[in-house]
Amino acid sequence: KDPVPSDIAIAQAQTPKDIATLASEINLKSSEVDLYGKKKAKVSVKVLNRLKDCDSGKYVVVCGITPTPLGEGKSTTTIGLAQALGAHSKKNVFACVRQPSQGPTFGIKGGAAGGGYSQVIPMEEFNLHLTGDIHAITAANNLLAAAIDARIFHEATQTNEQLFKRLVPEKKGARKFSDIQLKRLKKLGIEKTDGNDLTSEEIARFVRLDIDIETITWQRVIDTNDRFLRKITVGQSDTEKGKTRTCQFDITVASEIMAVLALSTSLADMRERLGRMVIASNTAGEPITAEDLGVSGALAVLMKDAINPNLMQTLEGTPVFVHAGPFANIAHGNSSILADQIALKIVGKDGFVVTESGFGADIGMEKFMNIKCRYSGLKPNAAVLVATVRALKMHGGGPTVVPGVPLPNEYTAENIDLVTKGFSNLRKQIENVSFFGVPVVVAINSFSTDTENELETVQRLCKEAGAFDAVICHHWSKGGAGAVGLADAVDRACSSPSNFEFLYDLNLPLEDKIGIIAKKIYGADGVTFSEMATERLNRYKKQGFNNLPICMAKTHLSLSDNPQLKGSPKGFTLPISDVRASVGAGFIYPLVGKMSTMPGLPTRPCFYDIDIDLETEDIKGLF
Ligand code: ADP
Repeated sequence: KDPVPSDIAIAQAQTPKDIATLASEINLKSSEVDLYGKKKAKVSVKVLNRLKDCDSGKYVVVCGITPTPLGEGKSTTTIGLAQALGAHSKKNVFACVRQPSQGPTFGIKGGAAGGGYSQVIPMEEFNLHLTGDIHAITAANNLLAAAIDARIFHEATQTNEQLFKRLVPEKKGARKFSDIQLKRLKKLGIEKTDGNDLTSEEIARFVRLDIDIETITWQRVIDTNDRFLRKITVGQSDTEKGKTRTCQFDITVASEIMAVLALSTSLADMRERLGRMVIASNTAGEPITAEDLGVSGALAVLMKDAINPNLMQTLEGTPVFVHAGPFANIAHGNSSILADQIALKIVGKDGFVVTESGFGADIGMEKFMNIKCRYSGLKPNAAVLVATVRALKMHGGGPTVVPGVPLPNEYTAENIDLVTKGFSNLRKQIENVSFFGVPVVVAINSFSTDTENELETVQRLCKEAGAFDAVICHHWSKGGAGAVGLADAVDRACSSPSNFEFLYDLNLPLEDKIGIIAKKIYGADGVTFSEMATERLNRYKKQGFNNLPICMAKTHLSLSDNPQLKGSPKGFTLPISDVRASVGAGFIYPLVGKMSTMPGLPTRPCFYDIDIDLETEDIKGLF
């Protein structure tokens, strides 16, 4: 029987230190820290200016094998490793993790604060509203969505002159443009500052965005698993004069604005990226941006606090940044560049920043290297690849598990054969990290049901497969003390030579970049493109977006496009069904097979267990 209490019981038993105390321990000035109560704070990105000449610490990315329903423990390992490096190896250290979406928290997966004695606390705040960043993204995303439909409606129901008079109202005889309108005039090549001077041809070009409704890619978002919003019709009230349109809601963490937040390197950069977001094409086939709609300044205002990373702590008092939370399957799956950059400066030359990438190394780590590192300019010194004996058994052909039913024997009794077969997945993921020239340490996250034989088999196979090291760890049951061996291996890996390189050259055609990821990382024989995918790829190339990196939207449950195929599948072709462009975030976004950007709720969602104790106001049932 497991002697370790539940995640929430452990988390609630530990009183976090005052966050202002933690901020001063890591030498932040009080003017740089915005307290949200006593347990969480925002740290101003201006800190980067003060620390710009300081040396950066070592940069460690945590990734995993292909996820299974048995859970691998990437977040737990990220936090456990940070605790080990900090409290036990006495290094300066920061963990950087994503903010969880409320979709999974109330849906199937639960929260993401880690587990056992390796957690971010208070886990209730971490898993719920935190400081409102996801709400800000929802607000900004939906303001832009409203702006699109309103603009289409107004253009359809007014003449050019009527539109112009409303867009540029007359004041004291002059028609003055707003700053954002002046930018649009410049883009159109119209060098006039008084609206009264525009010719009717110039007025027509200025007021008409002529959005081609068929090409709109911007959707509304909500941070709830609400499957009934996967396809909706808007504009059904009589007041919209029959301008109905079929569209959809996505989950907030799939919003391009989430990706913009995660990939921005400064407030100015975020403002630029928000303006560059393409929402559709016009009827002439040119891209229409948030800037064209005049709304990008307002979006930046809604996002101005969200850009500052959130400071929290581990169970052992290690500092943690919780910032941005794009999913790794339908988005780029990594926490923010700014949090990592600030943390690297705070820990200094001999310190460590442990940052987590989502899902398996084939998606979260690949996007970390090819997208996040490309925009940040940072190079990881080492990667930690998390695996468990149980998950490898499932990859080796172990039976599926049913929630609420005890685990089959295969997972609770020794079975070296299944572990060895399932190692194919771990071997492929080790290779995937090696493509980037970064040393990889495998963290074998031990469960109480694992046998010594099984753990040692995995360790031996990892070393044979070319891992820098493989360490059996116990941070879930013992906290940082259980990951000291891992911390030591990571320290050594960071001092070993690393020849970081990207997987593909940005100048290659989009199709080739997609093909390289499919063949090298997923092990596919090739790629097929649907008619729609080809049409969109051609459009994006024509619009000048060929040189963006690729963010694949692919199932996280298999290296292939088929979630049923475990291990390291061979002999498959990757079907690209559709392609979208996230020009503000800065990537092209191919959809592999059927990928939903709005999860649903299962029959028995996590919310059944969640409640509040009316006496103590403690939250129950989060995990
Ligand atoms: P991931 O980040 O890979 O999704 P998490 O770190 O969130 O995984 O862990 C998923 C769940 O598994 C958590 O509830 C955590 O408490 C549990 N868990 C992680 N490691 C262990 C372990 N070694 N033993 C038992 N439970 C674990």
